[in-house]
Amino acid sequence: MNFDLLPEEQAFADEVEAFLREHASPEVMDAHPEQLSQTVDSPPKRAFMRKLAERGWLGMSWPKAYGGQERSGIYDFILTEALSRYGAPQPGKGVGIVGKTIIRNGSESLKREFLPRIIRGEIEFAIGYSEPDAGSDAANMQLRATRVPGGWQLDGQKVWTTSAHFADWYWVGARTSSENKHRGITLFLIPMDHEGFTIHPTWTIGDERTNEVFFDGVFVPDDHVVGEVGKGWKYICEALDLERFAMMPVGPLEKKVEALVEHVRTARRDDAPLRDDPVVRRTVARAATELEVSRMLQRRVISSALGGGVPTIESSQYKLYMNECGKRLADRAVSLLGPEAQLEAAEEGAPLSGRFARSYRYTVVDTVGGGTSEIQKNIIARRGLGLPPCF
Ligand SMILES: Cc1cc2nc3c(=O)[nH]c(=O)nc-3n(C[C@H](O)[C@H](O)[C@H](O)COP(=O)(O)OP(=O)(O)OC[C@H]3O[C@@H](n4cnc5c(N)ncnc54)[C@H](O)[C@@H]3O)c2cc1C
Repeated sequence: MNFDLLPEEQAFADEVEAFLREHASPEVMDAHPEQLSQTVDSPPKRAFMRKLAERGWLGMSWPKAYGGQERSGIYDFILTEALSRYGAPQPGKGVGIVGKTIIRNGSESLKREFLPRIIRGEIEFAIGYSEPDAGSDAANMQLRATRVPGGWQLDGQKVWTTSAHFADWYWVGARTSSENKHRGITLFLIPMDHEGFTIHPTWTIGDERTNEVFFDGVFVPDDHVVGEVGKGWKYICEALDLERFAMMPVGPLEKKVEALVEHVRTARRDDAPLRDDPVVRRTVARAATELEVSRMLQRRVISSALGGGVPTIESSQYKLYMNECGKRLADRAVSLLGPEAQLEAAEEGAPLSGRFARSYRYTVVDTVGGGTSEIQKNIIARRGLGLPPCF
């Protein structure tokens, strides 16, 4: 299999690299990127997103009718990976999840309202599936949508809505019928500043803020129903398959392996070069190999997606392997770096500026967001291997 980029793709990758070097800024980029850390949560990051839009880099693979360029999805992939290596904010939610789902299933009016604004980098989304009794079993969501004249009224609660405190629009699943668990869910789009929302922060061990969101009589007009009433679960499943790779680049893992290898090349312990220790060499060799396997699994997902499908099994295999790999790397790095590895970034003497202290906490979060590792294994067993359902 040949995974090399074509000359025109390589030229685009070089152009993106040059742009990122030119626009490198601590206000916009996370020096030590982790998987989910690259959100568009400040005015400079929004300005950066608009610069990407001005270059025509948002929604490159979308149909021309909706402002896209009908370029191969490989260009979106090249951009996402480069952004992730620089710790720059990611356009994945709007372009990769909401936009793609609207293109596949949304009404013409929804397409006209949202797609141009996504492509211009003007709006950010929060994704609301999880509830207190609907995490892994997301189809159990109970947020109630009641039919009212001209639309729906939503009452209830979501948990873990990551961007609710700064997003413009809420992409929300709610229960429109209690007769059928899966076919009773509908997807809605709601402005985040709508009256009737109360938002409470939830802080994670990875230092990221996520939120509980309470709905009290939130009205949604029929125009803002996504696709057909009762088909939300199907759209959510497709969107989750897209999220597991559109939102999960391998770049942060790459940067961490590079940093650890560089440290091993140059650092000394007990007056001897660290690289002279065979256990240390074996540790980084294994990390480099696992990184390579993650890259290969990711390329399988990309090549399947480029064929026009939604790669379910491949996405789950990639997410499972890559995120568990990140967790193993953090664990090995902390053991290898010694007790000081527990020092945080701001503390004196923290090796690699506290990178792995943060990563040790953060990578646990990666194995939960977007569906836990256990759920990925269940998907692979059930849909990939044809084994009986476990839930
Ligand atoms: C940082 C962060 C950001 C998030 N952002 C969002 C967001 O923006 N929007 C959103 O909607 N959600 C978001 N989530 C929610 C996330 O999708 C859920 O946390 C996840 O799906 C797990 O659900 P839960 O927390 O309810 O755990 P549970 O489902 O209660 O699971 C608890 C444990 O049981 C295991 N388990 C559950 N069911 C099974 C089974 N059938 N077989 C084997 N093991 C099982 C799980 O693997 C887990 O270890 C976020 C979560 C985190 C941590």
